[in-house]
Amino acid sequence: MACCGRQNTISQAEKIFVNGHILTMDENHPEAEALAIGQEEILAFGNSIKIKKSYPGAEVIDLAGKTVMPGIIESHGHLLSLGQSFLELNLEGIATPEEAAEKVRQRALQTSAGAWITGWGWDEGAWAKNYPTDRVLSEAAPKNPVYLRGLHGFASWVNAKAMEAAGITASTPNPPNGEILKEAKTHRPTGILTNKAQGLVEKHIPPPAPDQIEKALELAQEECLKNGLTTVHEANTTSEMLAAFRRLIKKDKLKIRVYAMLDGTDQNLIEPFLGEGPEIDPNRMLTIRCLKIFVDGALGSRGAAFLEPYSDAPGVRGVVVTPEDSLYPLTVRALKSNFQVAVHAIGDLANRLTLNAFKRALEAVPAAKDRRLRVEHAQVVALEDISKFAPLGIVVSMQPPHATSDMAWAETRVGPKRIKGAYAWRSFLETGIHLTLNSDFPGETLNPFSGMYAAETRQTPDGKPAGGWYPEQCLTRKEVLRAYTIEAAYSGFEEDSKGKIQPGMLADFIVLSDDISTLPPAKLLSLRVLQIYLGGTLVYKANE
Ligand SMILES: [Zn+2]
Repeated sequence: MACCGRQNTISQAEKIFVNGHILTMDENHPEAEALAIGQEEILAFGNSIKIKKSYPGAEVIDLAGKTVMPGIIESHGHLLSLGQSFLELNLEGIATPEEAAEKVRQRALQTSAGAWITGWGWDEGAWAKNYPTDRVLSEAAPKNPVYLRGLHGFASWVNAKAMEAAGITASTPNPPNGEILKEAKTHRPTGILTNKAQGLVEKHIPPPAPDQIEKALELAQEECLKNGLTTVHEANTTSEMLAAFRRLIKKDKLKIRVYAMLDGTDQNLIEPFLGEGPEIDPNRMLTIRCLKIFVDGALGSRGAAFLEPYSDAPGVRGVVVTPEDSLYPLTVRALKSNFQVAVHAIGDLANRLTLNAFKRALEAVPAAKDRRLRVEHAQVVALEDISKFAPLGIVVSMQPPHATSDMAWAETRVGPKRIKGAYAWRSFLETGIHLTLNSDFPGETLNPFSGMYAAETRQTPDGKPAGGWYPEQCLTRKEVLRAYTIEAAYSGFEEDSKGKIQPGMLADFIVLSDDISTLPPAKLLSLRVLQIYLGGTLVYKANE
């Protein structure tokens, strides 16, 4: 607009937000009262009078003293699984097998004969001493195969039709790393499948149709918005999910930003990307520059790989699913293609072999300076290995809710020495590492404030144990907020556009029911998200 001689910065503001308590996460200006937004970005922040004066034509939104902070970046979650948990039968919190069977019976009434009924959320940990059997499910749904995954993914409960579909009989042997529970005398399968045995049935369930995937992703994003998440790092993106994200963008229905970690085991999916390099969306809704690889399993099911046997299972050391000899060349290829690699590593052996593979790969591709290779979980790390992550520039991505969910049994699995390197957030931070925190939903609640509470207290929501579990690892509010914003942005190479409220950043921010900078930890559990702005546009408003 050269003809008019007006200053562009002034004429561009579309909206200003005034009278707020804005936590910027910018150390030089930690708080502000007002914000100006132009296009999708933050133009300025400051006090209300000054901002109003500078942007006279803009729409004014009064924040009425409410606290505002940058949108939370969930750096590790599973959107499709979350969405499917809404489409499937939800058995979370169910007290008895009969109660679950009644839900299955109701669902069977609306389901055509032969179609699968799937569900999720019965507590295989709490019910382990007295597992239910298939009979109650077979009665509830005699014409439909039924597959009910446990809350933690270690066991599934199926009916007779499902076992028939999978060909499971008294003579079916256990697969490696899994068990088909059987009656002692008759060897009749009881309908409970643990660990890898779940796959025997799971592989017969037809995959969701494209429109079901889309529906599930939409339901998941609604849940994310309710919880204040403006970006999600989808921690195992399949080609079907990627196609669904693209369709949602085309229909203008994607309301959260997605950082996709591609399923690194799918050659057809990753080869074209490794050939052509990352895909960075100019509209910043979908970024593809990361591969996800699993090196071991989970601690609860003893699938996590350890240098020495489990303390509660002599001779069992867990399972390495991707050896160093495979991880190394893949990491080298990824580095050459400017791709990040995110490795799921839980046990100390898995973490060590990942460190070794990453170190060798970084040496083999010396031009790759700022690659931010990621270790997801780093759950139980040998004490002497904790300091080896930071010098390699590795980002450690950890889950506070895992600590408070696992603390009841984790030490039994690993013993008193190894537990010192477990969920060791502070030990990692002290090495100067980039630490991002997240939930790994849907196994844990995606409510980030609940995660912050866990990180600060290392207690269950009802305050146990008193003083916290290994409280020397507790984090401060400042560290925790940083891990869910600035560091989460860094873990996706997005620290220049996300994680802070600063001129030039995307206007992704959330309005909260209370002042998160001063709330006591227990009050974090009832903190609510009132509004969410994505790129300056209101995408969520709570019912007040
Ligand atoms: Zn995960």
